[in-house]
Amino acid sequence: MDCLFCKIFQGQIPSKKVYEDENVFAFEDIHPLAKTHILFIHKKHTTNVNGLSTIHVGQVFTAIKNWTSGQKIEKEGFRVVTNTGPDAGQTVFHAHFHVLGGEKLGGFGK
Ligand code: 5GP
Ligand code: ZN
Repeated sequence: MDCLFCKIFQGQIPSKKVYEDENVFAFEDIHPLAKTHILFIHKKHTTNVNGLSTIHVGQVFTAIKNWTSGQKIEKEGFRVVTNTGPDAGQTVFHAHFHVLGGEKLGGFGK
């Protein structure tokens, strides 16, 4: 599978891993948009979030809960973003969830 994020979670391309369980892998974004910018991916390859089942999405959000739990970011707050398709500016076509925080975030939208 010629997919950047599949290669990352399989260890074929290096990344700064912060979390892994049976289904989910998380690593630092290479171009951080906030002091903390982590990408959470499900190990099942799908182009975007619409390819994930409710169970998959639940597994990703459970991983986010597990990773943030007990950390400063849990108390201070964070944002979860998933870009889908051209209008949202999606650039990597393996579904992923940006977790942003570590500082006060600006507004979002257009
Ligand atoms: P998107 O724009 O599709 O929502 O998000 C893709 C994200 O993947 C971007 O924030 C980008 O910085 C990140 N990214 C792209 N290539 C790599 C890479 O090789 N390693 C890591 N860690 N992040 C990457
Ligand atoms: Zn993939």
